[in-house]
Amino acid sequence: MDWQAFSENINQPLNGLLSPIQIQSAHAVSGGDIHQAYQLHTAGKNYFLKLNHRQYLPHFDTERHSLNAIRNSNTITCPQPFATGIFNDQAWLLMEFIDFAPSKPQSDEVQRGRALAHLHHQISRDAKPFGWFENNFIGLSQQHNHWQMDWIEFYGQQRLKPQLELAILRDAPASLYQLGMELIEQLPFWFKEYTPEASLLHGDLWGGNSAFNEAGEPIFFDPACYYGDRETDLAMTELFGGFTADFYTGYNAVFPLDAGYQSRKPLYNLYHVLNHFNLFGGSYAQQAEKIIRDLLEMSR
Ligand code: ADP
Repeated sequence: MDWQAFSENINQPLNGLLSPIQIQSAHAVSGGDIHQAYQLHTAGKNYFLKLNHRQYLPHFDTERHSLNAIRNSNTITCPQPFATGIFNDQAWLLMEFIDFAPSKPQSDEVQRGRALAHLHHQISRDAKPFGWFENNFIGLSQQHNHWQMDWIEFYGQQRLKPQLELAILRDAPASLYQLGMELIEQLPFWFKEYTPEASLLHGDLWGGNSAFNEAGEPIFFDPACYYGDRETDLAMTELFGGFTADFYTGYNAVFPLDAGYQSRKPLYNLYHVLNHFNLFGGSYAQQAEKIIRDLLEMSR
């Protein structure tokens, strides 16, 4: 990468950077699932840059919008996004660089749970409260966000169904689709005594998308925001691990979870397991089908 030419490109007024930056050197950062990432060094501060082919610009634009929404909520801390653009056929997203701490003290885990609960306290008061102002992405998959009044309808039609349809295109067994569609019919079973509110969600909260800065403050990144049931964020924290019991203690101290959360957890994680099949293939299809069969069994 010609960082000198790249500096000139990102400093174009159209990109809206408040002050021009001059990149002196760059180091690749590992750990991302999808994009290339760099730490950019300037005479002043460091920046974090994501790069990918130009077709990924919508991914970076929607990530920038989500980061801005989270920052505007004044609840959890996430990197400040500065600009997105295209340079030499490459899409890019420039944001604040965070110095992450190598390990976390226990008390900070409570704080991380409390912080997420404060984000979830941001409730949409819209007449059609579930959704987002644009579609975005969960990993590489499109995430549909048309505003809807009814959460059950939203979760069935805009979360589970599109993933089931994608799975068929990826040669998943027909039984996965059929059972999944049956499950969508049965969704009201899990909401007999529970009416979710439309909370501002991180949307992609696995352990790899949260860490602590050097001051011990919890940081959340790589969001795919929308307004939905906060239990979906909590369920995802449990899907791949990385959050300790203290995290949930902190969360519940601020915004206690409904007693029925445990019964809905597999229902909400099914979306991510299906998405994993659609992104990575393999045994995620069997895992998803098992979750669906167990859920259907429960509803009978
Ligand atoms: P991807 O969208 O490709 O999954 P991530 O947003 O997860 O990429 O970022 C990849 C890695 O870069 C993360 O695991 C984290 O360690 C690091 N990272 C993410 N955002 C920042 C940031 N603002 N400052 C410093 N490092 C970051």
